[in-house]
Amino acid sequence: MKKDCLVCTGCHKEYPLDKIFPRCDNCQEPLEIKISLSQRFNKNRKISSESILEHYAAFYPFPWIDNQLSLQEGFTPLVKVDKLARLLEIDNLYLKNETVNPTWSFKDRGTYVGVQHALSSGCNYIGTLSSGNMAASVAAYGARAGLKTIILVSANMPLEKLNPILIYQPILIRVQGDYGQMYYESLKIGQEQGIYFLNSDVPFRVEGSKSIAFEICEQLDYSVPDYVLIPTSSGGNARGILKGFLEFFEGGLIKKLPKIVCIQLAGCAPIYEAWIRNKDRITPIQEPQAIDNAIANPFPPSGNELLRKLRKYEGLITTVTDNEALQGQLMLAQEGIFAQPAAAVSVIALQKLKKEGIISKKSYCVALVTGAGIKYTGILERHKFNVSTGTLPELNKIIRTRLKELPLY
Ligand SMILES: *Cc1c(COP(=O)(O)O)cnc(C)c1O
Ligand SMILES: [Zn+2]
Repeated sequence: MKKDCLVCTGCHKEYPLDKIFPRCDNCQEPLEIKISLSQRFNKNRKISSESILEHYAAFYPFPWIDNQLSLQEGFTPLVKVDKLARLLEIDNLYLKNETVNPTWSFKDRGTYVGVQHALSSGCNYIGTLSSGNMAASVAAYGARAGLKTIILVSANMPLEKLNPILIYQPILIRVQGDYGQMYYESLKIGQEQGIYFLNSDVPFRVEGSKSIAFEICEQLDYSVPDYVLIPTSSGGNARGILKGFLEFFEGGLIKKLPKIVCIQLAGCAPIYEAWIRNKDRITPIQEPQAIDNAIANPFPPSGNELLRKLRKYEGLITTVTDNEALQGQLMLAQEGIFAQPAAAVSVIALQKLKKEGIISKKSYCVALVTGAGIKYTGILERHKFNVSTGTLPELNKIIRTRLKELPLY
């Protein structure tokens, strides 16, 4: 039987696969792998091309689905992170990595479902109001569907965040005025001008988030985690995830419900503030101060509903500071995941709740990593990264020294 090996592209000399030096010892030309083709490739194992709406069709109210609108969102990895689990002293920890969606956040699930609904209801325009990720997502799916797309953002949004939206060429308008009011005003204008405004917590966007819960159940072979930790702003995503678990529960697919843990940034935590004061309704935060406005909606439109649901299903809500969010970003990076600070709060919240004795060591936990850090690199200036510069003769020594360093986490 012939064996796989390395072969020189110049003189064809063969080498064993465990040769590390990547060039030919004879002629210095590059090596490549030679496969002996002794095993047969199984052509019948197909890569799945289903969309979330097809895969979970039983849980969605669409008589037909236009697959052309999909960008293969969802079906994101559930990554077991033993190193991070040891650091947080939690026995079983998984990250649901939503950073790998087509526009790098979980928003794509709800956008896909929402555009489906907009088109099947005869709308020719779509729009959204967003502080970043929802805008990029709606602009991308609007472009793909060939729809005119209206994006409203706060006038004070950093310019750095506009370009990843503008690349899809939506109609982008920077609006001066109260962000909370913009939500209701945009819905009104939409009704008047026939624009389907896919805002943070509209019903079909919430439906998209159900698929996160469905996937977690499937990925854990229909066992259910004890806790699911969710960075929370408008409340739409947390509502959708809880709704997904409830529907699987009612459908007899799972035997229990997880506890939902919502996390807000301390500088803008309207749902948390109402929760600790035992109030039924949220009050707007007047001067929000938060590092990442992806989870800093000062007047979350689903805040009241989320309070009702957290009470009914014994959920939890907590806060994380800006600096802690940055720490979380470093922790996740040590598992190979580049999250934005807003998306990194779930691991910090878990660490806190564990220390406070609220979550026990032997719990099964899933922390949602809601969006990638790639769209907002300005924030990375806050980290003090160590970069060496040197000449070629110095290189050997520099590497020897730096190999002795410990990482920040
Ligand atoms: C939108 C967003 C959230 C918050 O989701 P809500 O549904 O508004 O609660 C959290 N993290 C990231 C990265 C987001 O983009
Ligand atoms: Zn009502």
